[in-house]
Amino acid sequence: MPEYVGALDQGTTSTRFMVFDHAGTVVSLDQKEHSQIFPEPGWVEHDPGEIWLNTVSVIEGALSRAGLDPGDLAAVGITNQRETTVVWDRSTGEPVANAIVWQDTRTAGLCKALEAGEGPDRFRAKTGLPLATYFAGPKVRWLLDEHDLGDRAVGGELAFGTIDSWVAWNLTGGTEGGQHVTDVTNASRTMLMDLATTTWDSDLLMELGVPTHMLPEIVASVGHIGSCAGPLSGVPLTAILGDQQAALFGQVCFKPGDAKNTYGTGNFMLMNTGTDPVPSESGLLSTVAYRIDGDETVYALEGSVAVTGSLVQWLRDNIGIIAEASEVEDLALSVEDNGDVYFVPAFSGLFAPHWRPDARGVIIGLTRFANKGHIARAALESTAYQTKDVLDAMTADSGVNLVELRVDGGMTHNSLLMQFQADLLGVEVVRPTIAETTALGAAYAAGLAVGFWSDFDELTSRWVESERWVPDMTSDERTRLQGRWRQAIHRSLDWV
Ligand code: ADP
Repeated sequence: MPEYVGALDQGTTSTRFMVFDHAGTVVSLDQKEHSQIFPEPGWVEHDPGEIWLNTVSVIEGALSRAGLDPGDLAAVGITNQRETTVVWDRSTGEPVANAIVWQDTRTAGLCKALEAGEGPDRFRAKTGLPLATYFAGPKVRWLLDEHDLGDRAVGGELAFGTIDSWVAWNLTGGTEGGQHVTDVTNASRTMLMDLATTTWDSDLLMELGVPTHMLPEIVASVGHIGSCAGPLSGVPLTAILGDQQAALFGQVCFKPGDAKNTYGTGNFMLMNTGTDPVPSESGLLSTVAYRIDGDETVYALEGSVAVTGSLVQWLRDNIGIIAEASEVEDLALSVEDNGDVYFVPAFSGLFAPHWRPDARGVIIGLTRFANKGHIARAALESTAYQTKDVLDAMTADSGVNLVELRVDGGMTHNSLLMQFQADLLGVEVVRPTIAETTALGAAYAAGLAVGFWSDFDELTSRWVESERWVPDMTSDERTRLQGRWRQAIHRSLDWV
């Protein structure tokens, strides 16, 4: 058996390839950012061609850095930014347009029309999702309408896929016999799949106007999916997981009630709910956690927050009060507290638990006293407040009171934020030694499929705590702060 497993992490801002050894240590890594394209307010696009070129480049880069050949990899897994939608021509391999990214709100009108007077929860019972711009189905429909592609889609000339499909198709040969697949976690974010049966649903396809002939085959998240060509020639592709589900896997949340929160571009809290989907009455999503080929599907409840780390990027790129994301901590520490300033970063509307595409960002509570330190502090704290709203919804829906929250992602290196998070939640916050849980989860899943790792117990024994933040705030203070936050949220929702 070869000594390593590869994980391709195609994220919102960059593409990474990582090689892991049996101990779960990263032995090689290469990473490349891709362009963020903002053609209009609220629109966000990626160039799928650029993403594929970067994929090839980071695979070759990581292998050559460690002096490895594809033959040194026992298997490879893909994890990916979810919902981002690509339509391409099967015969030329060319995308018909830029990918529409998950944060893009251009389908707000379409989503409203799809409510057909029944409200945003019209398809919730079947899909686990509210009608929202976040999901892939309306994005495909928009591309077909805008580029007048209906006939070509019906005729089978075009392929639809989320980023996992696009990368898997290219990685397994593209126009030379590439596999047109998506795994069950990614499929659960399209609004086209029946969550209980995990199959494409003909009623949903008809309602959303998406032709069957353009759909990928839904496969298990862990199992033999195909054999790679090109830069990974001959390596078995044995796992595909959406990025948040991969992080859940990497945090070894294999038991019902296990939960993690990832602090990246956005924040995503997922709780394993076992083999039955749990409907949400509190504004969360019911989604697929993973399926191992031959086993039952495992489900999750998810609280998705669109803007957290990307607010720090915005402070850097659009406002210029910091030069690097990490500087936000010192700037926020330059003031004693938030000075009663609150920042609701509703740049893509508000996701969980509100699901309001029309909400817009607000900074409120400004006086002549406020300075850039307060803005930085309020920006950081907004991540913690949004997470608190999601955790409250999670507790209400699942009936599980978390004793601790497992965290990962770029923002967890910010101790000020993590301490404030623990204070606000009243729950201990813990980070594992391996912070790259998304790629690790894809590697674990790929390795499990080929016996590189034997079972869940072996993976669970590898989870090691690195840091812990213990709550240190009175419940009166917590209640007061939350009340202020709620007032700020109302202002954001009122701005229509
Ligand atoms: P993704 O995988 O979504 O691209 P990462 O997990 O790599 O995201 O996290 C990157 C995000 O974290 C960026 O949005 C960045 O602004 C934010 N970030 C990175 N370092 C810090 C820090 N020290 N404090 C606050 N935010 C940070």
